[in-house]
Amino acid sequence: MYWQPEKECMSRADLEQLQLERLQSTLYRVGTHVPFYRQKFREMKLDFDSFNTLADIHKLPFTMKQDLRDSYPYGMFAVPLREVVRIHSSSGTTGMATVVGYTRNDIKNWADLVARVLCAAGLTADDVIQIAFGYGLFTGGFGLHYGAERLGASVIPISSGNTKRQIQIMQDFKTTALVCTPSYALNIADVMLDMGINPSGLSLKFGLFGAEPWSEAMRREINEKLGIQSTDNYGLSEVMGPGVAGECQECNGLHINEDHFLVEVLDPETLEPVKPGEIGELVITTLTKEAFPVIRYRTHDLTRLLPEPCPCGRTFIRINRILGRTDDMLIIKGVNVFPTQIESVLFDIDGTAPHYRIVVERENHQDKATVLVEVKESYFFDEMKKQGALIDTIKSRLASELGIGVAVKLVEEKTLGRFEGKGQRVIDKRKI
Ligand SMILES: [Zn+2]
Repeated sequence: MYWQPEKECMSRADLEQLQLERLQSTLYRVGTHVPFYRQKFREMKLDFDSFNTLADIHKLPFTMKQDLRDSYPYGMFAVPLREVVRIHSSSGTTGMATVVGYTRNDIKNWADLVARVLCAAGLTADDVIQIAFGYGLFTGGFGLHYGAERLGASVIPISSGNTKRQIQIMQDFKTTALVCTPSYALNIADVMLDMGINPSGLSLKFGLFGAEPWSEAMRREINEKLGIQSTDNYGLSEVMGPGVAGECQECNGLHINEDHFLVEVLDPETLEPVKPGEIGELVITTLTKEAFPVIRYRTHDLTRLLPEPCPCGRTFIRINRILGRTDDMLIIKGVNVFPTQIESVLFDIDGTAPHYRIVVERENHQDKATVLVEVKESYFFDEMKKQGALIDTIKSRLASELGIGVAVKLVEEKTLGRFEGKGQRVIDKRKI
């Protein structure tokens, strides 16, 4: 089922023509109205009249998070504030916040793009959608909310937190779809089990999870615990918010809404395109945004393009689930390590709770990595022999997955903290 089949299933030739036209008009818009781009274009002596093919995208400048911060609060807006009907802001976890704006048209497009994602995940106007993302300046709550209303579903704007109340509402309101981060979904499942509630007695059928990287193994665990089908969706406030990309029911990669976003996957070091199918940094150019267009925004999210056609019939290219952040990508003993690799190993080992932290430090000029793993209570109080065997299993599985040896330490269940937002799974002491 499609929300806008004339777009979602359009031919590649028509799509590329549309992308080029929209890119040209976006370049005109930012070159005229945004001082940052006007100056960049002038410095680079860009001639738009000769910009006749999408392949010329490499001639355009990149936009960095820092550029948005430097323009705080409204410097990157391409329309006067009078035309802005909504303002959001990204979390300032790693420095000053960035501010983004939306025109009436932007809000309309945003709702449609999120409705596409919900529809692709199998949701209809008959669903009751519980949105457990934070409402407020963060784009997650309102983004999904408007999309779900656009779809015609019944929306429960519960926001994040108060897990027991989430579960109560889920039971009483007969929620059919849960929207939140994957780690919070797992947290809800655990609290539900602690409360002695059997999820099979709920009306829950779907989970739409995003805003943080997660693994296939984590998906299996959530699906089993809650008895649902969960899909991944992707977005970031600098580009729009949720609705940039989402999985269809094939659950095999996220379709990018390519008529609104032009994507590239580049080597984060050289900034050249990676070979097809290779992992690199996702770089996004908005094609229709009026208030806050961005050119070649460096997301620092790692993924790969999946160019094979999808059985669902959508022609939009898919990306792999996000594999981590370029800044999360650890180089340990010269090897690239993604936290999601560790996660997928732990999920497959019986006795380990799906919570971990990786600590990297330098000892005698050598990298040393230790993975702290939460284990179920029964394991923790077992005799040393059983613990030793578990450590050995985790060590050898991690060594074969990562290609390097790491130390493993077991910790008691629920000592590493639970995250309702984005989890901090990496502590790199080499940088301190
Ligand atoms: Zn598909």
